[in-house]
Amino acid sequence: MRLLESVCFNRLVYSRLRGMLTRSFKFSRDLRALNRRMREWRMIARGVLSRDHPVMAHIIPIRRCNLSCTYCNEYDDFSKPIPPATMIERLDQLADLGTTIITFSGGEPLLHPDLDSLIANTRKRGVIAGLITNGYLLTPQRIRQLNDAGLDHMQISIDNVMPDEVSKKSLKVLDKKLQMLAAHALFHVNINSVLGGGIHNPQDALVVGRRAIELGFTSTIGIIHDGDGQLRPIGEREREVFLEMKGLEKKNFSQLNYFQDNIAHGRPSDWRCRAGARYLYVCEDGLVHYCSQQRGFPAKPLGQYTVEDIRREYMTKKGCAPMCTISCVHQISYMDFWRDPQTIDSTVPAESTANLVQIK
Ligand code: SF4
Ligand code: SF4
Repeated sequence: MRLLESVCFNRLVYSRLRGMLTRSFKFSRDLRALNRRMREWRMIARGVLSRDHPVMAHIIPIRRCNLSCTYCNEYDDFSKPIPPATMIERLDQLADLGTTIITFSGGEPLLHPDLDSLIANTRKRGVIAGLITNGYLLTPQRIRQLNDAGLDHMQISIDNVMPDEVSKKSLKVLDKKLQMLAAHALFHVNINSVLGGGIHNPQDALVVGRRAIELGFTSTIGIIHDGDGQLRPIGEREREVFLEMKGLEKKNFSQLNYFQDNIAHGRPSDWRCRAGARYLYVCEDGLVHYCSQQRGFPAKPLGQYTVEDIRREYMTKKGCAPMCTISCVHQISYMDFWRDPQTIDSTVPAESTANLVQIK
């Protein structure tokens, strides 16, 4: 009898302790979310008041990736991590330009051994820190380290339910990682799924989107672009899935509808791409490019990039804009949608990115 009472007592204590820990985790996560939202509101206000600073930069700490998705032209399988001192110099240069959000991308940024200190350095400069990862290297401990570093946002792309020859970023493989994130991440998590590009079953995007929402994340959908960031036509089935995802988006999704509707219907969009000004892509060589798909212009070293460059690119038309699918640049450029028609003509170079593509 005594033994039974003792077991019951221990169970009660355990369940109370677990309840307290869960409440304390939720409280910490809510507090971090509140703090993040306040900084984001400040970012929007500052972005509307001043046009002379980048709102978002993507930076590449390592070009190497542990996967080899066949549609990707942004990775290799041999590059070394950029030395931390070089990365910190670049992060400081972006902060000096007034950049509000810096997102680490790749390749696979979690392969960089000093990523946490780079994130901490970003936050120390008052910049919002984001990370785009394939999620394969996440563990509970790695997630807690990212919490401690001060990461604000993480995005994981999941392309299908079962892995196939196009992509191994599948829900089957990554669902455990998503559960770990739901249990441990204090930062915001967005799950992106992709349509087109040889993804066999477009319905998979819906399964992924619903699972993301079930776990308390946000979810977005992208349509695969060609090597110049331009729209590839999508089929009827994909369009149906896309529109269904957008139905969910009203409650849970956060993309800007104007561009996405046009993309789904293969129509050009009338907008002003502010890449090179409001959005910067900093490659592993420390050069500023318009975006991941228009590398080669202006291709100026970040250390020499000034407010004059930002002002020029802000007013420069991009010939690739009408059929562009790069949603982060759409979102950032939307801030200035209503003002400053672009008056400088540009011939956007169709720089080949073929040397980065490693299809196995
Ligand atoms: S899309 Fe695939 S290959 Fe390209 S960086 Fe992401 S995980 Fe690596
Ligand atoms: S319109 Fe802008 S974001 Fe889109 S591909 Fe061209 S330069 Fe890149």
